[in-house]
Amino acid sequence: MPQIIDGKVISAQIKDEVREKVSQLKAQGKSVCLAVIQVGNDPASSVYVGNKKKACAYVGIESLSYELAEETTQEELLSLIWELNEKKEVNGILVQLPLPGHIDENEVIRAIDPKKDVDGFHPQSVGALCIGQPGFVSCTPAGIIELLKRSGVEIAGKECVVIGRSNIVGKPMALLLLRENGTVTVAHSRTKNLKEVAKRADILVVAVGKPKMITRDYVKEGAVVIDVGIHRNENNKLCGDVDFEDVSPVCSAITPVPGGVGPMTIAMLMYNCANSVSLQ
Ligand code: NAD
Repeated sequence: MPQIIDGKVISAQIKDEVREKVSQLKAQGKSVCLAVIQVGNDPASSVYVGNKKKACAYVGIESLSYELAEETTQEELLSLIWELNEKKEVNGILVQLPLPGHIDENEVIRAIDPKKDVDGFHPQSVGALCIGQPGFVSCTPAGIIELLKRSGVEIAGKECVVIGRSNIVGKPMALLLLRENGTVTVAHSRTKNLKEVAKRADILVVAVGKPKMITRDYVKEGAVVIDVGIHRNENNKLCGDVDFEDVSPVCSAITPVPGGVGPMTIAMLMYNCANSVSLQ
């Protein structure tokens, strides 16, 4: 059986470390505060926002909540962000995505002060990651690096294949693996011979958004498999982009869904918030 990479345990460790750091900051008279903005009341977004607030309470970060109506205009949202950019007591600003269709997400992300961009989506944060300078890193891929390191998986010199090239997972994932000295290939929907490309991987990160697409014929014997996907199947059970039962017997380590990558995203958000104080 492969090693099961336990995101619940590792995310709990990280949250405890952040809690300790926040309490040390408090002892120096510095508090940490995250402003969370939600526009509209998409049920999935409300669950994510609720979980983020709960995590803040656990680690000792103050959270300010802005629940705006669906019909909020882009100008109103931008004004709120500008106001929060100016507020000294606010360290991090998070706008829950997706936004309603009449609002330009890119413009909203660009409005956030990069020093408060705890989601790591601002072009300046992405650029800093690209050229190896300090800045916030997108939480899901940052969490995957922690999962690998804390499970004893060496990245340097390894063949790493990332399937998916989205701005929030695939691209920053590839940059982070490169920063860790992996040899990185990014595959996507136009990649030819995907199975052969994926089979090169010592570390295979899958973020395709297609339930159970990755079966054992994409996986080299002994590879480490990281499954970013989250889906609900016909029985309302969670599953990933990887067919866990099929792939488990051939890999050396794998993340389950649920309980793998999922819990890491919020833990890394808390980490970014605590770190924002030293960046400011
Ligand atoms: P996305 O839809 O933005 O990107 C999917 C990528 O997969 C694209 O770059 C596309 O080129 C590639 N792709 C699609 N079909 C393919 C195919 N047949 N072969 C090869 N490549 C293909 O998705 P995303 O935002 O990157 O998310 C991916 C998955 O991860 C989703 O299931 C999402 O729900 C999940 N997700 C989980 C977390 C978490 O916290 N665990 C965070 C973000 C996303």
